[in-house]
Amino acid sequence: FQGDFERRFNLPHLTDLFDDIEPIPSTFCLKSRLPVSEEFADGYPSDEKWHGYINNNDRVLLKVIHYSSPTSAGAECIDPACTWVEQWIHRAGPREKIYFKPEQVNAAIVTCGGLCPGLNDVIRQIVITLEIYGVKRIMGIPFGYRGFSDQGIHEMQLSRKVVQNIHLAGGSLLGISRGGPTISEIVDSMEERGINMLFVLGGNGTHAGANAIHNECRKRRLKVAVVGVPKTIDNDILHMDKTFGFDTAVEEAQRAINSAYIEAHSAYHGIGIVKLMGRSSGFIAMHASLASGQVDICLIPEVPFHLHGPNGVLKHLRYLVETKGSAVVCVAEGAGQNFLEKTNATDPSGNIVLGDIGVHIQQETKKYFKEIDVPADVKYIDPTYMIRACRANASDGILCTVLGQNAVHGAFAGYGGITVGICNTHYVYFPIPEVISYPRQLDPNSRMWHRCLTSTGQPDFT
Ligand code: ATP
Ligand code: MG
Repeated sequence: FQGDFERRFNLPHLTDLFDDIEPIPSTFCLKSRLPVSEEFADGYPSDEKWHGYINNNDRVLLKVIHYSSPTSAGAECIDPACTWVEQWIHRAGPREKIYFKPEQVNAAIVTCGGLCPGLNDVIRQIVITLEIYGVKRIMGIPFGYRGFSDQGIHEMQLSRKVVQNIHLAGGSLLGISRGGPTISEIVDSMEERGINMLFVLGGNGTHAGANAIHNECRKRRLKVAVVGVPKTIDNDILHMDKTFGFDTAVEEAQRAINSAYIEAHSAYHGIGIVKLMGRSSGFIAMHASLASGQVDICLIPEVPFHLHGPNGVLKHLRYLVETKGSAVVCVAEGAGQNFLEKTNATDPSGNIVLGDIGVHIQQETKKYFKEIDVPADVKYIDPTYMIRACRANASDGILCTVLGQNAVHGAFAGYGGITVGICNTHYVYFPIPEVISYPRQLDPNSRMWHRCLTSTGQPDFT
């Protein structure tokens, strides 16, 4: 199959800015060279030891779209007669030619936003991979972007020895924060510290920052590679199969649902309400509901619902307790925001603070059952902070390892303003703006959502 029009994501590269920059042969191959052997200690082994490179032109097919007419292709298409569009993304991995001499690299790692299982796994893998390339100077910037500017926060020297066991616990070795200095202050601080590789672990806000840092470095003609690793427990990054932490979150969320079920089932007319993460996407709520099999009502931001009225959630809850004896509701934090008073309050990063839909449903449920004079024992569980602080499970541990390694390969390959991910089961690099323009959302017409509805047995609440 040949598409009418191929769209390629062009990755920003150091050679876009510096035309005199000469690559050097890469010195490293993960396949044959783990762990670091003595011969790596003082320089590059010769070329015959190399295998397993990714070519800069290797691509992964992101999607093929068949538009019903050229007009519906809109801006996606430059050829007026085109109806098929293919999108290709660069494969991630080690390159034969690298654009940094390992001994000249001064790398920094920073983690921003909220906690997510796997942060330590990614930090650890970045450090280990940098060391295998031969990098000696690796620093951690504590407490997110704030660590660049706050006088009281001191950088942390990182090595394999320091990070060896950090993945055995959740959280982030480096700490996290929201808000912080301006982009220009961050780049000033990077210049002062001589940082020429920056690895940024965070969500959409952090990536917007990383891209701005990349642009500012270009403006100042600094030879710096800024590489992101997307951290979103909500799994809401565009184009990606999944992001690290999501799998662990679903597993832990399922445990919370199980507890809610046991509580509800053990009480007379028990109702358990579990609020899960998902500001604009219901992936965790849907997957945890599917996994647990104990959820009767799953509510997500993408699907509007009524609480009151003949088709409302509360009437269905009454039906459930009267027929089954108990019920479990799983609600994503961003769902039903239309029921809550808007405060316009924002966090230090400028994100709107959401109202608490879990508490609202709990209160409305109690009120409703009192009004109709039917006994109900309502219990509310919000496991958010317990889930975020968990260590990564096996599958996330593997994902973090590959993402961390690929982040380092990407920086050495001379790319900047990029982020790493998994797409159609292959590991890839994206230009940052392509993945942060808006959050990925669940399709309410998808089979998966309908499978979830079949599993819960819930009616349409609209
Ligand atoms: P989470 O998924 O936990 O919300 P996040 O990366 O989106 O992660 P934020 O608190 O929104 O978390 O942002 C993290 C950091 O990025 C903060 O220090 C914030 O100041 C910075 N930041 C956020 N948005 C931007 C932006 N548009 N431009 C530059 N920096 C930004
Ligand atoms: Mg965010």
